[in-house]
Amino acid sequence: MTADDDAIGPDGYVRLRCYVPLQDTTFFSLFCSEPKGCGRVASSSVGRAISLMGGDGNRTTQEFAARLRCAECGNRRIEVRVSIDPRTHETRLREGLLSEVRDGDLAFAGASGASHDQPG
Ligand SMILES: [Zn+2]
Repeated sequence: MTADDDAIGPDGYVRLRCYVPLQDTTFFSLFCSEPKGCGRVASSSVGRAISLMGGDGNRTTQEFAARLRCAECGNRRIEVRVSIDPRTHETRLREGLLSEVRDGDLAFAGASGASHDQPG
């Protein structure tokens, strides 16, 4: 990790911008997994999460989770987990980045209207 003293937000979760240096291999898995939830799974790239949360990356993963709502059942208790591309660097070069990393389907509501910028 970096020597970023402000990496953790006031809610105790990591700020989204901390994942930017890792965004080629890291994405967010989104689970509608409360007892009331429908079990839907989706994903979001780091860039998309930041874009949805105002663009500065200072919001935390928990704030991101709180913004989401399941498009399937309307459940607002979405669990966000950090996921890592498990492939080797060589495989990644050969096959390209995961679709989740490049974009992700972000099939949960709240994403509508979010811009689709892909820096770089
Ligand atoms: Zn659901």
